[in-house]
Amino acid sequence: MHESCAVVGVYAPNEDVARLTFFALFALQHRGQESSGIATTEGKRPQVYAKMGLVSQVFNEDSLSHLTGEIAIGHNRYSTRGSSQIGNVQPIVVGKGSNAIAIAHNGNIVNAEYLYEELSDQGYVFRTSTDTEVIANLIISSPEKDLVDKIRYAMHRLQGAYSLTLMTNYRLFGVRDPLGVRPLCLGAIDGGWVVASESCALDHIGANSIREIEPGEIVSISASGVESYREEVGKRSLCIFEYIYFARPDSAINGRLLYPARQAMGAGLAEEYPVDADLVMGVPDSATAAGVGYSVKSGIPLAEGLIKNRYVGRTFIEPDQRIRDLGVKLKFNPLPQVLDGKRVVLVDDSIVRGTTTPQVIRLLRRAGAKEVHMRICAPPIRYPCFFGVDMATRWELIAAQKTTPEVRDFIGADSLGYLSIDGLIKAVALPKDIFCMACFTGVYPIPIQIEMDKLALETMPTAQQSAFGIKQR
Ligand code: SF4
Repeated sequence: MHESCAVVGVYAPNEDVARLTFFALFALQHRGQESSGIATTEGKRPQVYAKMGLVSQVFNEDSLSHLTGEIAIGHNRYSTRGSSQIGNVQPIVVGKGSNAIAIAHNGNIVNAEYLYEELSDQGYVFRTSTDTEVIANLIISSPEKDLVDKIRYAMHRLQGAYSLTLMTNYRLFGVRDPLGVRPLCLGAIDGGWVVASESCALDHIGANSIREIEPGEIVSISASGVESYREEVGKRSLCIFEYIYFARPDSAINGRLLYPARQAMGAGLAEEYPVDADLVMGVPDSATAAGVGYSVKSGIPLAEGLIKNRYVGRTFIEPDQRIRDLGVKLKFNPLPQVLDGKRVVLVDDSIVRGTTTPQVIRLLRRAGAKEVHMRICAPPIRYPCFFGVDMATRWELIAAQKTTPEVRDFIGADSLGYLSIDGLIKAVALPKDIFCMACFTGVYPIPIQIEMDKLALETMPTAQQSAFGIKQR
């Protein structure tokens, strides 16, 4: 399961803004590994340097030295809408002369196709196949004069998830959709300001965390300081997977640091699904904290039985068939000395398609584990995500197709327990009604039935369609 993107914005007249943006993007590499880009401006049309690859592969001293100015925005991309190709890298610049804006986007616009057709009919020409360019063109198409009003106009038309950084030649903006699906925070740095997807990026560049940018908020930063404009907010719908998996454990969202929240998920699993075992392991790195929580609550010793190759990232070198056949072995190596003859509790963040978990369990058994008891921090995922998480279509989601005992048998575990929704909310320790949990419940915060049917029809074998009651339109 992949998150869609990371965004950064820096307004700091006395700083090397491109370098600060680089290090903030470096801290947010986990949110997208396909491409990276930075835009800066020196009072003229924004200039962009963006390429395919990891942050450290894209930029060097030479490229950063050409990105000068007082304002920068940056982006790491994992594509959810629009294919993975150089033409779709961000930030994107649209508009002419002093009206040009650069924009970086995290999220997914549900009504992008409709807006794309409407804007194309008006004569707007699209360079990319991303919904980000739809947002950008919608903003500049607004009849309003002031840019804040133009952004407001776009916010009234857009449906879906968007946390944006946006810049003109003298102003930086941070914008968050009224549902607040993706996080966005504001920090301060020596005489300047930083906007970032997660607070860990602020920590890494020595910025002080100030506050969350609220759902429906437009923050404008310029020589006259920070100004805030609020749009009407309905039901809040922060993605609960930020707490389970996406965000870094050293980030705080809504004032809740993620590491203790994940520990509490593990403790909740120990309460809901106790078992006699010899050792507990969290699948590294996303379930490490939850493994600690299960161990502390159950009193079963914690052990490291799987070593992760932390440098497995996106690479342009394709593995040959022999290496591909090794599957998760590229990522994890088990320790027989730890596992041999042991009854193991294995804690993981989630099961989506159920393709990786059986391989991990097989690795443990081959290394000598006598029993493997699987514990999962996320409740069963039965519905796809339409807000920027590249999950799967409904027929690919194993929990939508099989009962829990069937999933247990399929993955080859001795027992399987998913944390309940109430247990998850208790661990996160925030009000239930601020979250999106649509992938567990099927209750989406905005109407998306037509989109769901279309996606299902595009991707589901015809034989499966009738099982879901989907009719051809
Ligand atoms: S559907 Fe699931 S993954 Fe998507 S935003 Fe909602 S909680 Fe997050």
